[in-house]
Amino acid sequence: MDLYKPYVQNDRQKKLVDAAGELADMFSERGEKYDREDQFPYQNFDDLKQSGYGNLSLPKEYGGEEINLYELVMIQERLATGDAATALSIGWHLGGLMEITETRAWDEHIFKDLCRKIVDNKALINRAATEPATGSPTRGGLPQTKAVKTDGGWTLTGRKSFTSMARVLDYSLISATIDDTDEKGFFLVDHNLKGVSIEETWDTISMKGTGSDDLVLTDVHLPASSLVERDSSAVGKDIPKAWLLHIPACYIGVAIAARNYAIQFAKDYSPNSLPGPIKDVPEVQRKIGEMELELFKARQILYSVADKWVREPSKRRDMASELASVKHVVTNSAFQIVDTAMRIVGARGLFRDNPMQRYYRDVRAGLHNPPMDDMVIGMLAKNALE
Ligand SMILES: Cc1cc2nc3c(=O)[nH]c(=O)nc-3n(C[C@H](O)[C@H](O)[C@H](O)COP(=O)(O)OP(=O)(O)OC[C@H]3O[C@@H](n4cnc5c(N)ncnc54)[C@H](O)[C@@H]3O)c2cc1C
Repeated sequence: MDLYKPYVQNDRQKKLVDAAGELADMFSERGEKYDREDQFPYQNFDDLKQSGYGNLSLPKEYGGEEINLYELVMIQERLATGDAATALSIGWHLGGLMEITETRAWDEHIFKDLCRKIVDNKALINRAATEPATGSPTRGGLPQTKAVKTDGGWTLTGRKSFTSMARVLDYSLISATIDDTDEKGFFLVDHNLKGVSIEETWDTISMKGTGSDDLVLTDVHLPASSLVERDSSAVGKDIPKAWLLHIPACYIGVAIAARNYAIQFAKDYSPNSLPGPIKDVPEVQRKIGEMELELFKARQILYSVADKWVREPSKRRDMASELASVKHVVTNSAFQIVDTAMRIVGARGLFRDNPMQRYYRDVRAGLHNPPMDDMVIGMLAKNALE
């Protein structure tokens, strides 16, 4: 059964999803080893670079493919069926660049220069917005990372936690409080600069391969042009961050991998208490049907909202609660599908060399990527009461 047939709309999408599929299948073979040995998956990132995956959301005139949100969701979902941690990491890169490609909110020279480095040098970039003191930046805390104005530009000092793929990043977009103001800005920081270092703090049971370490900035001297986004004058700041749909796409990808494994297991496993494989047992069929229903619900909402974003740009400003609802529904469905898949496989799924236990650990992280469930519910309630 081709899970992409119902959603692929044209040849370009078919090619994109097939290319993501080739990478995913390679990553899937290495996933267990990286996870067990607590290794950062450098080879996955080399393969992504080799394939040009990191260029996909850049503007065509700067060497990209200018993929849209629908395409982003599709390729990220497929990539995550192979390795969710790598998919989430590269999702930050692709999604963040997609936003700038769509809004052109930056000084064009700086964006063009960054695109050149991504295309020519295969550079990787991510936003580093979380800090130990603020927790999730979506809660509104002001960064403790401070940008102090100097004659030539800025000096940046602070610590960012949860910086996915920190070890392979070439650039970061660092959120910082601007001098003595209460205003937040984002600074483009080259990781080769003096004062930029990484502390390998990422020791988790979930999404281990994201290597979401601490990024430490000690008196990093930056040019004036490094302040690429300011809260007070941000272009398009009233447009919701639709690119964050790469998050639910990633976790439903984990659920698809678990679902595929469980279905294959049900076809293959024949205990001697039964005349054939467990796929013929009504209870197992019921569980498979439940997974399919949940997957249908989650993917319908994910793809339909992404499609609306692409086809009806005039409605984008009003889509914040729809986008947030997608995150809530899809990540929770993913969680449920993996749980049901684990129940089909039984205790074998708990063994260290069984991919199911990794899916079970990875899918859990979706709850702690933005927007968090309570924020979504709060937003919906507020809208309803207004
Ligand atoms: C796999 C993974 C990759 C990540 N990659 C990145 C990345 O590349 N870049 C990046 O910047 N971040 C990244 N993050 C960080 C992520 O966006 C969150 O900032 C982080 O997970 C902390 O979320 P939290 O909800 O636990 O934090 P906190 O905000 O510290 O919240 C902890 C708990 O406190 C409560 N709480 C806190 N504040 C409030 C409030 N105001 N109102 C109500 N309840 C509150 C909630 O119960 C919450 O569960 C990543 C996270 C994960 C898990």
